[in-house]
Amino acid sequence: MEQLKQKILNEGIVLSDRVLKVDAFLNHQIDPVLMQQIGQEFARLFRDEGITRIVTIEASGIAPAIMAGLELGVPVIFARKHQSLTLTENLLTASVYSFTKQVESTIAISTRHLSANDRVLIIDDFLANGKAAKGLISIIQQAGASIAGLGIVIEKSFQVGRQELEEAGFRVESLARIAALEDGKVVFID
Ligand code: 5GP
Repeated sequence: MEQLKQKILNEGIVLSDRVLKVDAFLNHQIDPVLMQQIGQEFARLFRDEGITRIVTIEASGIAPAIMAGLELGVPVIFARKHQSLTLTENLLTASVYSFTKQVESTIAISTRHLSANDRVLIIDDFLANGKAAKGLISIIQQAGASIAGLGIVIEKSFQVGRQELEEAGFRVESLARIAALEDGKVVFID
């Protein structure tokens, strides 16, 4: 997706050969127009899949997921990372190792919002080693729902996430694919 790649080139900051900072439009400040275009692109890619729910993880997956949900006309559920006094019902949970925070945490979705009749599109901001994605897949499978695929805003293709998810049989659609972060620069695949 050309607008996204331009934005990454213009406003992304390469923190190391493994970490890209996009606080200017995705992870802290959010560009609503770009998010709308991202939502439209995910909707175009998955429109024929009979999606009934979008599942993401707080916090940075929410903006692109909401826009895709608006385009597809389906509800968006975000997995919670923190215990909440209001989240008292039965929970589906998974343990996820965070690439950026380097800690293991439990993510949770209430059983009220996902059922075996659902067909789910998973959306997230980044795909690195696939831990967040696999946690979400586990929760969706616990609910008995089916998974249409994963929509990723920025994929770091030099990490193992895509390969492992594809080997497990999942469709992965990434709007920007990064081959390498080299000498402070972003190198895209095609
Ligand atoms: P994974 O679980 O695939 O290893 O990592 C994906 C998660 O880690 C995403 O939800 C994202 O929040 C975070 N993440 C991974 N790599 C990066 C990165 O280079 N930059 C930023 N800002 N977040 C990342």
